[in-house]
Amino acid sequence: MRLVAGVDVGGTRVKSMLCDFDGSVVLSHTASTPERPGDGIVDVITDTVSALLELARADGVDGALTAMGAVVPGLVDEATGSATWSANLGWRDLPLRQRLQDRFDVPVAMGHDVRAGLLAEFHLGAAMGAPDALFVPLGTGIASALLASGRVVAGSEWTGEIGHVIVEPDGPLCGCGRHGCLEAVASAAALGRAWRELGRDGDAEILSRAVDAGDPEAIRIWQGAIDALVRVIGPVCAAAGTRLVLIGGGLALSGATLLDPLRDRLVHAIGHERVTVTQAALGDRAGALGATLLAMEAAT
Ligand SMILES: [Zn+2]
Repeated sequence: MRLVAGVDVGGTRVKSMLCDFDGSVVLSHTASTPERPGDGIVDVITDTVSALLELARADGVDGALTAMGAVVPGLVDEATGSATWSANLGWRDLPLRQRLQDRFDVPVAMGHDVRAGLLAEFHLGAAMGAPDALFVPLGTGIASALLASGRVVAGSEWTGEIGHVIVEPDGPLCGCGRHGCLEAVASAAALGRAWRELGRDGDAEILSRAVDAGDPEAIRIWQGAIDALVRVIGPVCAAAGTRLVLIGGGLALSGATLLDPLRDRLVHAIGHERVTVTQAALGDRAGALGATLLAMEAAT
């Protein structure tokens, strides 16, 4: 059996899987991301793939690694295979594809976690067959990936970095050092913070239940976040002619409480009805699945 490995390095977890060339998942695994690994991420990915292959052999899987893919957050230059910058994980200008290529005697692909996630949603998930889509995971931070004419757009390393567009100049401090970035206002982490600053307990999920229960303070925070999202997503959809918006990340689990008002505000903001806002289908497996798809592309 020809196997491909996909590794998704996240801020808190490293998700990995082995697939065959039909896309069937043979084995998957999740581990914690070491604190600020920096260039040490090369060892983490190498060890992860070796462990997966060992587990597969122990399970009696008769196969050889044919290609591997790794996807990472932050700024990524797919053309050069470089992980340009990650504030949280601590690398800068890391030639990741080359470093992995030095370790593995198979074709290596590397990419951006959110763009790989959209690739997976396009081939296997909620964007299957859609010619255009915008994928926006709302988790600890906010990023995006755009599908146009059936292709995931990768312009420069800044592509998709909508989380640091300022939506409230006097708003909360962002991890980037500026105030009022979209992710400081509308990420799941930011919503949880805003809720606790009111003296309430819990996270964004508890907040969304308070919205359902009609709590006026919760509704005010929630609507503020939706307005901020629409201010950024709206112009992207208008410019690219996007008709499908996929919301992922922890906040997508709020379902209709988030998606329905977001869709209504988006339709109003861009002035046409043909926009669908829906939940991404692949959850936290999207990045690793996308990494295996990139690996298959690299192998052919
Ligand atoms: Zn920022």
